[in-house]
Order: sequence, then structure tokens, then C-alpha cells
Amino acid sequence: MGGNSPCASCKLLRRRCTKDCIFAPYFPPDDPHKFAIVHKVFGASNVSKMLQELPVHQRADAVSSLVYEANARVRDPVYGCVGAISFLQNQVSQLQMQLAVAEAEILCIQMQQEPMMPTPQIDPDDKSFLLQNNLPHQYLNFTSSSNNVIHDSLKRESIFGHDMVS
Ligand SMILES: [Zn+2]
Repeated sequence: MGGNSPCASCKLLRRRCTKDCIFAPYFPPDDPHKFAIVHKVFGASNVSKMLQELPVHQRADAVSSLVYEANARVRDPVYGCVGAISFLQNQVSQLQMQLAVAEAEILCIQMQQEPMMPTPQIDPDDKSFLLQNNLPHQYLNFTSSSNNVIHDSLKRESIFGHDMVS
């Protein structure tokens, strides 16, 4: 073997690694497993054909994809990396569902705190906003009754009329 050791592919295939070996840039001799697994799953000649069909700048990405897919296929012989993809898609839809439930709960809580009110405009000069937000206890008890609208407006009238806030 002279000065240059053959690439991992040529070593495994027991052939001479030429200067223009298509595997050499992607399968260095210090990582023999990388080629071994790709060879086991796809076959060396298929990998060689795939690489030859690609422009040089895409070959490294293709090799890392092949290595990933081969490892997944060995781990999960039935589904390969599709198994990982559908597991993750499942997780995404479960999390989206949880998110939707959490958003619905937030909306519910906001509506209980601000019955029949649109989202308050935060204006530092708006005293009515401060009053509503500093008056939680009685106010909240009222909101749990079924006649929210009437009680709410009565309550606000009494607050403003008789200055119940200290
Ligand atoms: Zn080689």
C-alpha cells in the first residue's frame, strides 16, 4: 500500500484505490463503519452509480443521507427512516393538539376575567381600565353568575357611582 492508504470502500472491497476513486472523498479509511453500512444496505455498485449521477457539489450531502438512511434501515428493518419520520409527525400532531387545548383554556380564562369585554386597550390615562383590573375579588364572584351582562354593568355603575375603590 505505499504512502496512501486506500479509502474505506476500497479497503472493504479489497481493490486498489485509484486517484479518481469516487468513494475516497466521502469514505475516509478512519471511519470504516460508514461505508460498511451503506454497502450492506444499498450495495457498493448502487452507491457508486448514484454518486456518478450527481454533480460533485451534491455528493457529500447524498452520502450523509445514504449513511443516515442505512443506519435507520438497520435499526428498523421494516420502516427504515420512514419510521422516524412518522414518529416525529405523530409527535408534532400531538403537540399541536396540546397547544390548541392550552390556547382554548387561555381563552376561557381570559373570558372569565373580562366578561363581555373586548381585550382592554392599555392606556395609562384610562382610569376605568385601572379600576377594573384592581378590583378582582367581588368582581370575579359576580362573573360566575349566569347573568353576567346585567351584573357586570350594575357592578361597574356602582363602582363608578359610589367610589368603592380605596
Ligand atoms: Zn477508494
